[in-house]
Amino acid sequence: MANSPQTAAKDVSPAPVVRFAPSPTGFLHIGGARTALFNWLYAKANDGQFLLRIEDTDRKRNNPEAVAAIYDGLKWLGLDWDGDAVSQYARADRHVEIAEALLANGNAYRCCLTTDELNAMRKQAEAEKRTFKIRSPWRDKGLDETRKDQPFSVRLKAPQDGETIVHDEVQGDITFANQDLDDFIILRSDATPTYHLAVVVDDHDMGITHVIRGVDHLNNAARQNLIYAALDWDIPTYAHVPLIHGADGAKLSKRHGALGVESYRADGFLPEALRNYLVRLGWSHGDDEIMSTQQLISWFGLDGIGKSPARFDTQKLEDLNAHYIRESTNEDLLEHIRAVLPEIEDGNTLADKLTKNDGWAKLEMALPGLKPRAKTVLAVLDGARFITDQRPLVLEPKAAKLLDDDAKGHLAQLKTRLETASDWQAATLEAIVRSYGEEADIKLGKIAQPLRAALTGRTVSPPVFDVLAALGKTESLARLADQTV
Ligand code: GLU
Repeated sequence: MANSPQTAAKDVSPAPVVRFAPSPTGFLHIGGARTALFNWLYAKANDGQFLLRIEDTDRKRNNPEAVAAIYDGLKWLGLDWDGDAVSQYARADRHVEIAEALLANGNAYRCCLTTDELNAMRKQAEAEKRTFKIRSPWRDKGLDETRKDQPFSVRLKAPQDGETIVHDEVQGDITFANQDLDDFIILRSDATPTYHLAVVVDDHDMGITHVIRGVDHLNNAARQNLIYAALDWDIPTYAHVPLIHGADGAKLSKRHGALGVESYRADGFLPEALRNYLVRLGWSHGDDEIMSTQQLISWFGLDGIGKSPARFDTQKLEDLNAHYIRESTNEDLLEHIRAVLPEIEDGNTLADKLTKNDGWAKLEMALPGLKPRAKTVLAVLDGARFITDQRPLVLEPKAAKLLDDDAKGHLAQLKTRLETASDWQAATLEAIVRSYGEEADIKLGKIAQPLRAALTGRTVSPPVFDVLAALGKTESLARLADQTV
């Protein structure tokens, strides 16, 4: 059956060690979050380790806030990493050490090509209409005395013929012609490592067994394999996952509203909804849409990752979020509400109001009625505004329209009956309203809608008897009085 695939037998031994290796750009973007999630799931699914390495060698971009944004995003998503995060920058000495080892074993060389010389070579290639490839004159001759004190970079002495094959669990075997790979720089003239060297050395030293990352790094894997070979190190298992596209089919960018994870938090998405959504971007388990974290952990495997790019669909994310909001316990939802309050414009005022007059307890009572109507935590809060709104309520025009003289007359009578209610439970209040409707020979809607308008100032709210119960007797009667006298 298409929607009940077998759980892949797991036999990954020894236990895998994976990593998420973001460059600190100021936020954890949605593609990075998906990569982190796949790695985390792979580790959890196979009793492995999930390590975090901050690729902070670009000092211009690096700052503590940018790194904190990554930590925050991962923590909010519940993607806890093992041990302390590794700073790539802090390992600079080790990168130099390995570059020197490559010089010593003859697989790298010092190159004194200047920018001007390189530009001239590029121009000449253009003039001769051939693809420009760096062929350094320093590859085969050592530095002579005249150049000894000049700045040099270190290049890998890459094979110039033959092929490099990247074995990839998702993309299959991808073959690269070595003549296209160039002698790329591994250590710059200021002794800083390039990305390729740093990644290989760090992955090796951290004991990484599986590299799961975006397919935009596939070409890099070919170069990185050359470094592994030059050091006689084992190459990790690769899984390059497809990119995420926007609804228009173009690579996901800010233009599509693809922002950092923190903006989804601020917009009232639940981490479990985002996790469930992100995992489906590129990975599938039959037709399953809604999957608990436990199910994901038991089902996740590299064989479920497809090759074609995934499409980001905000509507789907919202639907999943609505599902998780409906399913969440009051306690969890209240916690999410507390967390989102500081992120919204009048959040502090709202928090104050909720703290006064038993607002939190009233909100909790209203939650069962609010959950089925909300796609985001913000929508829950918005639906709960009737709790914190101050009397006399400012009515929405549509609500005001419902309160004509006739309706006000009924509300006044109903108020007298409600005053004598034996208790203030939704069921008791419903019975009172219904019996009034029967006696006055009007449909329930005819009385419930004006009642809702008077109590909430709106035409849409949780069930009106729940609203009465949540507001409490004094406040409910006072709101009715505001509209009837
Ligand atoms: N730092 C790279 C990035 O943020 C990832 C490198 C890797 O996963 O090998 O795209």
